[in-house]
Formats: sequence, C-alpha cells, structure tokens
Amino acid sequence: MSPTPVVSVRDLRVYYGTPRGTVRAVDHVSLDIGEGEVLGLVGESGCGKSTLGRGILGLLPEGAVSDGEVLYGGRNLVGMGAKELRRLRGPDLGLIFQEPMTRLNPVMRIEDHFRETLQQHEPGLSARELRTRSLETLGRMGIPPTRFRQYPHEFSGGMRQRIMIALALVLRPKLLVADEPTTSLDVIVEAQILGILSDLRQTFGTALLLITHNLGIVAEACDRVAVMYAGQIAEEGDARDVFADPAHPYTRELLRSTISLETEELHSIPGSPPNLIDPPRACRFHPRCPSAMVVCAERNPIEQRIAHGRRVLCWLHGPEELIPDGGTEPLEREEIAVADEA
Ligand code: ADP
Repeated sequence: MSPTPVVSVRDLRVYYGTPRGTVRAVDHVSLDIGEGEVLGLVGESGCGKSTLGRGILGLLPEGAVSDGEVLYGGRNLVGMGAKELRRLRGPDLGLIFQEPMTRLNPVMRIEDHFRETLQQHEPGLSARELRTRSLETLGRMGIPPTRFRQYPHEFSGGMRQRIMIALALVLRPKLLVADEPTTSLDVIVEAQILGILSDLRQTFGTALLLITHNLGIVAEACDRVAVMYAGQIAEEGDARDVFADPAHPYTRELLRSTISLETEELHSIPGSPPNLIDPPRACRFHPRCPSAMVVCAERNPIEQRIAHGRRVLCWLHGPEELIPDGGTEPLEREEIAVADEA
C-alpha cells in the first residue's frame, strides 16, 4: 500500500524563457510523494531534476514559468502568491541545497541560526523549548550541544551540511526536497547523512524528494525512484524493482554506467541529454536508445502501468494497438544518426 500522498504533482510544466528559445525543463510531469516516503529522482545532468524539485516548492528563478498542479494540503502551490508560499516554507516545505556555506551566516553562531529560524515560523516557542528542539535536532545529526555556540567557520564542510539539514528539519517540514545534498562530501559523511535523513522521515513522517545522480544512494536510501530524462519521467517504481528489472532502456543504461564505475570499466551512455529548447521528436531518448524501434522516432510514447505502482514511458511496453505496421522494426543506425543531428 502506498502511503497517503503529502504532495501530488500533476502535469507540471516549468519553462525557462531564454534568448535562444524556451527551455522545457519540466514537461508534463506527474508524481506523488507519500508521508514518510523517500522518492529518489535520478538522471543525467540537464534532465530537469533541480527544476522539478524547485518547481514543486515554488522556488524558481526569475524567467521561469510554471503551470500544472502541485497539490499540497488540498491547495495548488503553482500560481500561489510569493507571500503565502514563504509562509509555508520552513514549517511545511523545506529545501536542502548542495552548498552549505551559501546559507549559513558567517557572523552568526549556530545557536542564533536556530533561534532565528524557529522564531520566524513558531513565534510562540519559549526560549527553553527553542533550545531543546534545536539541540535535539542537532544531536540527531551528530552535533554535540557543546558546539551550539560556535560559528560556521569552526565546522568542517560535512558538519556544516549537517547543520543545514538540521536547520531544515528543526521545523519538521512535511515535505523536504534535498538537491544533491551530499555531492560535495566524502563517502563516510555522505552515508551518515543519508542514514540520518532516513531515520528522520520515520520520526516525523517527512516526505523526502532526494535528487541525486548517484544510483547507489538511491538503492540504499530510497523507497521509490523516478528516472528523469529530458524533462520527463521515463520510469518510476519501487526502487528495488526498478533496479532489479529496469523497464526503460534509459534506466538500464544509467545502471550500467554506475556498475562500470565499480568494476572500473568505462561505460557511458553514448551521446548526451538533448537540448531542451528543441528536444528530439517522439521518444526523446530514441536517438541514444539501443532498443529503438521505428515507432520511437515517429510517435510520442504513452505512459504505461506495467505493475502495481510502476510506470514507464516507452514503446517497448506498448500499447501494441497504437504501434503502426512495421513500427516494431529496429530503427536503422543511419536513422539514429540523422535523428541525433536533428
Ligand atoms: P538537472 O538538475 O537534471 O541537472 P536542471 O533542472 O538543472 O537539470 O536543468 C534542466 C534544463 O534547464 C537544462 O537544459 C538547463 O540548462 C536548463 N536551465 C536550468 N536553469 C535554468 C535557468 N535559470 N535559465 C535557463 N535555463 C535553465
């Protein structure tokens, strides 16, 4: 049984207007994240993961336009006013960035960061409650109370990142988006942080969207995984099922590129993700797909449910009745090359 969704994303689109054209960074994406659930979002750089994470929280840069629905507590966050969104940020919606120093103020003690954050969102809290809550959250992150009065520069990068996470979690958000939260950290600290995040969602029921390019992290820390390619969800399902039996050729290729790192054999997916101003027509992955069929270059794939809670956007899974005669023939190499240039 899937847990009750904390957030339901329906047909979300996020476009950036640029002088060269419109970048369709998130193109008709739908997904749910349940209470206490960790959804991993993976895919190569430039596939729209950060934009999706920020789009869900309404934290998009200027020049971005979003449309569709992000349903949270019965309300649509898309199109909600900045003021109202700001009120939700912190106690309801949290974001953990990649680079911790950008958010910690170097002239403020750790204690002051916590006081400011809590007072802003929970003004009724007594000084004592404030201190207890802060120390408890920091403690979960492995930061002892003795360090509460220190300044950011007195901590290592890994500890600062843990402090940032504690600052996001002290408000006990219902939904947390963590965008490559451990990318700049060493593997031991990374493993610690992921363990902590996973414990916390159990304690507070926080729904977590974990954006990463590291599939090992997803295998370890996530319940479900969504694979993003060229602004769309190529595949989504239970993380173990997807890894054991990937349905989309892109997922398969991504997994192969991870395994190759471990065996030190070099396998990278040929080509690179497309420019999202003018992505390939029909299936966006077809120019790079080892299993591409004729239909893949001609018609948009239609999302298919292939098992309970699993969906895939790929003609290999049908629907057969919509594949024209000859459509399942392999796409000729020359055609792949032509499509690649298009
Ligand atoms: P990912 O997180 O998967 O690396 P992003 O969401 O960062 O992907 O980027 C998706 C696409 O949107 C890319 O083509 C990127 O160049 C483009 N993009 C991201 N931010 C902006 C922006 N502020 N203005 C214009 N294009 C952007």
